[in-house]
Amino acid sequence: MENRQPEPVDLVIRGGDIVTMDEAGTVIRDGALAVRDGRIVWLGPATEAWRFQAPETLDAGDHIVMPGLIDAHMHAAQHFLRGKLSEISRKRAPKMPVWKHYYLPYEAMLTPEDVHLSALAAYANMLMVGTTCFAEAGGPHPDMMARAADEIGIRGFVALSTTDQQGGGMPAPLSMTTHDAIERNRALVGRWATHRRVKAFLALRQIIICSEDLIKAIAAAASELDVKIHTHLAEGTYEVDFCLERFGKRPTEYLADLGVLSHHLHCAHSVLLSPGEVDLYVRHGPSACHCGFHNYALGVPRLTEMWRRGVPFGLGTDGAASSATLDVFQVAHVARIGQQVVAGTPWHMRTAISSEELLTIATRGGAKALGMPDAGWLGPGAKADIIVVAVDDFDQQPVADPLFVAANIVVGRDVRTVVVDGRVVMKNRELLTIDAEALKAKVASRRTAIMAAFDGVAA
Ligand SMILES: [Zn+2]
Repeated sequence: MENRQPEPVDLVIRGGDIVTMDEAGTVIRDGALAVRDGRIVWLGPATEAWRFQAPETLDAGDHIVMPGLIDAHMHAAQHFLRGKLSEISRKRAPKMPVWKHYYLPYEAMLTPEDVHLSALAAYANMLMVGTTCFAEAGGPHPDMMARAADEIGIRGFVALSTTDQQGGGMPAPLSMTTHDAIERNRALVGRWATHRRVKAFLALRQIIICSEDLIKAIAAAASELDVKIHTHLAEGTYEVDFCLERFGKRPTEYLADLGVLSHHLHCAHSVLLSPGEVDLYVRHGPSACHCGFHNYALGVPRLTEMWRRGVPFGLGTDGAASSATLDVFQVAHVARIGQQVVAGTPWHMRTAISSEELLTIATRGGAKALGMPDAGWLGPGAKADIIVVAVDDFDQQPVADPLFVAANIVVGRDVRTVVVDGRVVMKNRELLTIDAEALKAKVASRRTAIMAAFDGVAA
């Protein structure tokens, strides 16, 4: 017997099957891991966990331990619009495009306090379904989103909804000059640059409401500050037609010719791409996000093809207004069927992309797409963003292959305990950082008032 003192760490998770999602696809049955200063310092068999001593040890026996999921495109400010479009659609055909007639007018109505409340509710929802990091698409009052993320303990990148063009009826509160748009973006990134978990990206809402000068200046700022730009790209036919009519080029060609298509650009959707535009993604290295609940209504998403060609991809919900659920496990399940239809079945190929590969995109893929190669997997040196998932139900048993179960069967509500940056933020489905019941009550009363006002605007 070795006579060694246990090494002090901050947290030990012991027992359970560790699905690491590392490059080698390592799974450790009856494993354990140790966390210090927000990072994993060791993982191995549970029988060796005696080597570490921590003020807190989580027993994960009969559970799966895996990295938290990444929501690589969401809208925190639109959270209370969940179900709203369905409600409108039951009465009449909604006005198109939806972002112009509903989402932007709604965002323009919100006070800073509304955005804080909306973000708290969205982030609480995300933690409870196993999402440990998000990339905000860009909305109003992003500092309030950052404050909410700081308080609740999630990791994320906030962003300002950025546009300097009217685009036929931009609501006044969302309008800004080119100069203001640039300065507000730079200042936002600066204010959150030193926070451990919560940072800001630059943003461009989308091509048709951003001037060429703004696009170039934001791209220059991204290079200088070494930060990502979150945008929507190749999402709508109107966007392709706008670029063809105005510039004689398709959207991605236009951005490439401006010299702004680079690894700094993070492009949600990326659906309506010509073969030549896909080549531009491969050549210039922008990252992309596949929003499975929305993308198949837009066109034929080339996730499998682009991912295999090395385009950094994550999965995203696009927020509760668009996809209803904020559960990225469900996005992965939907994407498997969607990709099967577009990239497998036409060639009589049984599996276009496996659930295990989609879980890789939802974890390590999303982290890399957002510029965090040290997240989205479990191993020494990785960020300690970890979820503990119950798999003791008949719906999951037997767990002969933990990776199969994690990728094919688990959904967000199976997540029991969540660790972000080494801190336990949810334990046995109880959020430890906020008073969940008080938040629910506040959301219920304020949402009613906001919707009463919105019904007047959206009628
Ligand atoms: Zn979006």
